[in-house]
Amino acid sequence: MKQILITLISFLLVVNTFGQKITKTEKRILKTVTINSAASIEFLKKVVNINSGTMNPQGVKKVGMVFKEAYDEIGFSTNWIDMSEVNRSGHLFAETNGNKGKKLLLIGHLDTVFEEDSPFQEFTMVNDSIAHAPGGNDMKGGNVIILYALKALVDNGLLKKSQIIVAYTGDEESAGKPLSISRGDLIEAAKKSDIALGFETSTGFNYATVARRGSSGWKVEVTGKRAHSSGIFNERVGAGAIFELSRIMNEFYNEVRGEEYLTFNPGVIMGGTKVTFESALSKGTAFGKSNVVAQTATVKGGLRFISEKQKENARGKMKAIVTNNLPHTSAKITFTDSYPAMGPTEGNNGLLKILNQVSLDLGQGGVEAYDPGKRGAADVSFVAAYVDCLDGLGTMGNGAHTPKETVNLNTIEELTKRTAILIYRLINQ
Ligand SMILES: [Zn+2]
Repeated sequence: MKQILITLISFLLVVNTFGQKITKTEKRILKTVTINSAASIEFLKKVVNINSGTMNPQGVKKVGMVFKEAYDEIGFSTNWIDMSEVNRSGHLFAETNGNKGKKLLLIGHLDTVFEEDSPFQEFTMVNDSIAHAPGGNDMKGGNVIILYALKALVDNGLLKKSQIIVAYTGDEESAGKPLSISRGDLIEAAKKSDIALGFETSTGFNYATVARRGSSGWKVEVTGKRAHSSGIFNERVGAGAIFELSRIMNEFYNEVRGEEYLTFNPGVIMGGTKVTFESALSKGTAFGKSNVVAQTATVKGGLRFISEKQKENARGKMKAIVTNNLPHTSAKITFTDSYPAMGPTEGNNGLLKILNQVSLDLGQGGVEAYDPGKRGAADVSFVAAYVDCLDGLGTMGNGAHTPKETVNLNTIEELTKRTAILIYRLINQ
């Protein structure tokens, strides 16, 4: 009886640590991830210490080549796609071919916001679990999670008949234009796949991203009648460009604002007799005098939205406001598309359920949908129209895009395990 009790207790302990559904094969995968864990941190350190600011094409390619070698080693076919025609470095794609289970697209990026002239260049330990690392969290850590999860599957002979495409773009932080070229290969890969998983920074073990807002730009240009200020408001002179632009901004604020997930931000405004603006530098000049009615006024802004419908709706309202001009002024608004929205579809939520189960089985707790209003746009958004998507599967850390960026090394092993089991279950579906 005592013996049975002890066996029962140890059985319960095992069940508790591992949940109920981790299979024998999955345990082998987990073991391999653990064995390779120290090597994965070394790999991360190596790629962080190579500068790959978006506008440093050689550096981005150098990081790409380190990953290429690693993917070649585990039997993936690799391809460096040159992007010099859009003034960017290029993308690394690595893939396996097959027909078994779901076809996966795994998305990362090689570039960081820290250019060669940034003082922040090196991986250094803050304490035994946190590293201060430029791009370590956003998102070289996520790239490493993809690699070591796949390596664990390959090492156990589990990737033989599946189609997996790993896409590491080289310009996520500032995508080359036109997007049809810089994101063309990513979209083609999505069209051949069923599911896309994004490994942008994670917002904790218990959250994943099923929706991200899209982002786009707008610009209003107003023309007024140049005249002596004493004539403003009279029938011949009218309101001037600055009053007209103020009216437009005020009506945007009062009439377009208010829908959940819809935001728009005027980022820079100028008016006077003459203005110049250099988009590439986000910089301009304005000339005007208080005794001259303003002839011109311009504002540039951004707009974030959760669906194409919401975007179009907002644009329609903005257009109507812009045409309703004050006396002797005219205005036009132009829009530019950037990132499409990734809506919280049924398919995306279905993927979240699978991840949630994996996480529960691993004893890591349940996973919920993260508030889309709190996440910026990312590469996964470009493929959301073609496949079911989940993002935010990368590393944890703080201060991305600042000189204080850190990555939490202690969680990488667990996050890699979660990814490996998720991929394994998806390709066996
Ligand atoms: Zn990123």
